[in-house]
Amino acid sequence: MNAVTDVKGWCPGILRPMASGDGLIVRVRPRGGAFSLETAATLADLAARLGNGHIDLTRRANLQLRGLTEDRLPELRAELATLGLLDPDTVTEAVRNVMVAPLAGLDPSQAFDVRPVARAIDDALTSDKRLHALPGKFGLLVDGGGAISIACERTDVGLAAVGDAFAFGLDTARGTRWLGMVPPAQAAEAAIAAAHGYLAVATRGRMRGLDEAAFAQVAAAVRLSPMTGVPAAGGRRLGLLGSAVGIAAPFGRLEADQLRQLVKLAADAGAIDLRLSPWRAVYFGVRKDAGVLVLEEARGAGLIVEENDPVLQVEACPGAPDCKSSSVDARGDARRLAAIAAAHGYRGSIHVSGCGKGCARSLPSDLVLAGKAGAYRLIRKATTRGPVERMVDADEFEALFQHD
Ligand code: SF4
Repeated sequence: MNAVTDVKGWCPGILRPMASGDGLIVRVRPRGGAFSLETAATLADLAARLGNGHIDLTRRANLQLRGLTEDRLPELRAELATLGLLDPDTVTEAVRNVMVAPLAGLDPSQAFDVRPVARAIDDALTSDKRLHALPGKFGLLVDGGGAISIACERTDVGLAAVGDAFAFGLDTARGTRWLGMVPPAQAAEAAIAAAHGYLAVATRGRMRGLDEAAFAQVAAAVRLSPMTGVPAAGGRRLGLLGSAVGIAAPFGRLEADQLRQLVKLAADAGAIDLRLSPWRAVYFGVRKDAGVLVLEEARGAGLIVEENDPVLQVEACPGAPDCKSSSVDARGDARRLAAIAAAHGYRGSIHVSGCGKGCARSLPSDLVLAGKAGAYRLIRKATTRGPVERMVDADEFEALFQHD
């Protein structure tokens, strides 16, 4: 097993943790987009016993345990191996980036269950060693349509159910280009053919960086029939969703106790697993009579169950004290900022960053506050690297909205 590393630009894994201000971060990738309730309960216990109890829900629908130390890693790995979550090596875990529709098999408006296709892709990424040359951030998604869809998320290769087949797409600089249709029985094969096609033209970068000739070569590696429909744009929805619920963690941070509570709520409501999503929210099935109570209890546990919650408007990294690069309590300040923004009816996107690196969001935001020396650089309509308007203290937040 490889030594601990803090190389930036890599996603942390179980075998390759990443150093942060609060210790090591270990990313756990589910298989098929879900953790069984037993597995989720064990992960909560491991987070509390071997880490510092902080758990991140990531934008790639994974879960991260924080605050680990090197001497705890062997025990953690042994436990995760028992759960079937340990890959054979760092390369395998790095390429196993498959996002799955969170309501697959739960949403009756989906024409079919897409999880077998996602599992087949996961298996191929694990077993086909030629695919281990894929760049570490190369990702695939399998969407089922229906009440919530992940088809609009950016991954290198996309499969999105439309009617009784999949639309097949590749990422470009302008988003996913849907190229044609493929039946479910051949969908995993098509996705893997595209991954091999990518390796024939590049071994670094992402699909969106290919020139037209290289892109056409990748597309030609996949056999498709003409498009019969375009995937719905979809996106995050929270609360009661028919026979399931969606519950978000503020800024993507769950505490071990909150995860335990979610597991108990899910079990009491008749669910068998927790589904992860790219929206830092989890989903699970509920009996018809249980959904409202589940949402009430989740709200009481400090989680987000409504789409119009002001905290969802704000992205924030952990900041101090979790991250040693920060001099500000980014998440505490982000909560106060969210409340002030909502009181002013502000609808723009907000990013509060502990420092100029901007880990929580790489895209521009309408309002950006990037920590420096105990205060914030104020930046508008840019990333944390945009031009600085002026410095602001946390007690000046109210004034930020008087000109917007
Ligand atoms: S943006 Fe800065 S403070 Fe926030 S997590 Fe990244 S390095 Fe740490």
